[in-house]
Amino acid sequence: MSSNPLETLSKKHEFLVAIDSDGCAFDSMEIKHKECFIPTFIKHMGLQAVSKYAREACEFVNLYSKDRGANRFPAYLKALDFLAERPEVKSRGAKIPALQGIRDWVKRESKLGTKTIIPEAEKTGDPDLQLGAKWSQDVDDTVKAIVHGVPPFPLLRESLDKALPQADIIVCSATPTGALQKEWEEHDIAKYVGAICGQEVGSKKEILAAAIAKGWKAENIVMIGDAPGDKAAALANYCRYYPINPGSEERSWERFYNEALARFFAGTYAGAYEHELIAEFDAYLPEVPPWKIVKT
Ligand SMILES: [Mg+2]
Repeated sequence: MSSNPLETLSKKHEFLVAIDSDGCAFDSMEIKHKECFIPTFIKHMGLQAVSKYAREACEFVNLYSKDRGANRFPAYLKALDFLAERPEVKSRGAKIPALQGIRDWVKRESKLGTKTIIPEAEKTGDPDLQLGAKWSQDVDDTVKAIVHGVPPFPLLRESLDKALPQADIIVCSATPTGALQKEWEEHDIAKYVGAICGQEVGSKKEILAAAIAKGWKAENIVMIGDAPGDKAAALANYCRYYPINPGSEERSWERFYNEALARFFAGTYAGAYEHELIAEFDAYLPEVPPWKIVKT
């Protein structure tokens, strides 16, 4: 079995549309983080005493900041950092795990997922990695149990339909590939895509680089995403980026369907038009959490 779905993908068109899944194709960010990632994180990391602040930090990083959509390991480590420096947490004497073992692993591994942390935890016997592996597996199990019936955003399906005669389409996501397959099949939209590439395939940046290596020209690839990491992956590969603005997803898909897709095919997407969309997107998500902003 090939672990990389890009290897079996054949290029049929000059254009490639790469789509992020959570928060971009599906309105699934809130349910996944609030009902699945965060409760299991509080449980496994022993954050019960400061659960209110833990939840706030995790929601900020993963949903409402420039780190939205980042891989679970670096993103939740960052939430822990925010948590550890809060005065309310310090005054409660809560012990925030350092998780140095996971921090080191995040630096040396690019395929950050349940399927890579489990063997690494077994191989090294590192207690942090063992904890991270348990949490990550629990997240996947909880997502499987809870996240059902979350439909794609309006006009996603219509946009894929419209793109299909001129473009190959792939899913480019930091979610486990198995969960992506389930979600795209549940809503009968897997049929539009040539490959579903999740966290086991690599980072979003690596997935786009692999597509370029397969023969699509960078300027003929558009990455559609709802997070700064999606933009960064596209720009690092000199691909186009189309933003789905968090909180204005419907309007973003409307614009893609009615305007941006045709421009992409016509070669008039890059330049002033794309810059304007990216500038608008950049203003959507803050870097500094609200509790760190001093009210005057
Ligand atoms: Mg996303």
